[in-house]
Amino acid sequence: MTLSEAADRLARAAIGMQKTQEIDRIAAAHRPRLSAFFRRQKSLTLDQFSNYKFLFTESYRTFAEKATPNEFFTASDFNQLWSKIDTETFDDLQKTITGVQSEGVLKGGQQLLDSMTGHFEGGKWVEGVPKFWDLSNPRAVAWFQQHGGSLSYIKNIQETTRNELQTIIAQSIDGGWSYNQTAKAISDKFDDFGRDRARRIAIHETTQAYEAGNNEFAQGLKDDGIQMEKHWNTSKDEKVCDTCNQNEADGWIPLDQLHSSGHQYPPAHNGDRCFETYRQAQTS
Ligand SMILES: [Zn+2]
Repeated sequence: MTLSEAADRLARAAIGMQKTQEIDRIAAAHRPRLSAFFRRQKSLTLDQFSNYKFLFTESYRTFAEKATPNEFFTASDFNQLWSKIDTETFDDLQKTITGVQSEGVLKGGQQLLDSMTGHFEGGKWVEGVPKFWDLSNPRAVAWFQQHGGSLSYIKNIQETTRNELQTIIAQSIDGGWSYNQTAKAISDKFDDFGRDRARRIAIHETTQAYEAGNNEFAQGLKDDGIQMEKHWNTSKDEKVCDTCNQNEADGWIPLDQLHSSGHQYPPAHNGDRCFETYRQAQTS
C-alpha cells in the first residue's frame, strides 16, 4: 500500500465513523415513533379482532367443525379483518416513515456539504462559501417524489405484519386456542414489532435516506461541473457479505457507475452497515 493509499483509507474510515454515528443517532431518535405506530396498530388490531370473539366460543366451534371444518375463521374473515387494519394504519405508517426519510436526506446531504470548504460556480471553485442543501433542493424534492414515503416499502412492512398475524390465527385454530390466548399472542407479537422490528426499520430507512441525501448532494456537485467519484466501504469485519466485499473492491469509480452488485450506493440489503464515500475525481 502506498502512502496516499493509506491516507485515502484512513480518510474513508473517518467519514464512515461520522456517518455511522449520525445514522445511529437519527435512527434512535425515530425508533420511538415507529414503536408508537406499532402500539397504535396493536390497539386497532385487538379492537377489530374482538369482533370475532363469538368464533372462539365452545358452542360455535362444535357447530362449525361439525358442519364445515374449513369454514372456521375463513380466508375471507381474515382478509376482512386485515383490510380494515391496513386501510386505517397505512397513512400513519407512511407519515412515520417520511419523517425518518426527511431527516436522513437532510443530514446525509449536509454531511457531504460540511466536508467541503467551498463550492463550484460556473466551473470555478469558490472558497469558503458552502453550497446550500436542504429539503427544498430540487434534487431532494425529486428524490422524495420518487421514493418519499415509498409505497412499495410501506406495503412490504404491512405485508409482513399481515403474514405474522395470519400465522398466529392459523396456530390458534390448529391448537384450539381460546379467544384470550389468541389475543394475548397478537398483543405479544405487536410488542415484539415495537422493539426489534421498529429498530431495524428505523436503521434501514435512515441508512437508505442518508446515503440518498449524500449521493444527491454529490450529483448536485456534478451538475455544477465537478467530476465526482465514489467508493463503497464495508465495516471490514467477518459479518460483511460477498456482495458488499465485491462492491468495495470496485475501488473509486465514476459517480454514475453502478457497483458490482448493481447498486448505486448502500444499503445493498437489510441490515447492511456499508457506507459510500465521495471525492472529486483524481486526475493522476
Ligand atoms: Zn454491505
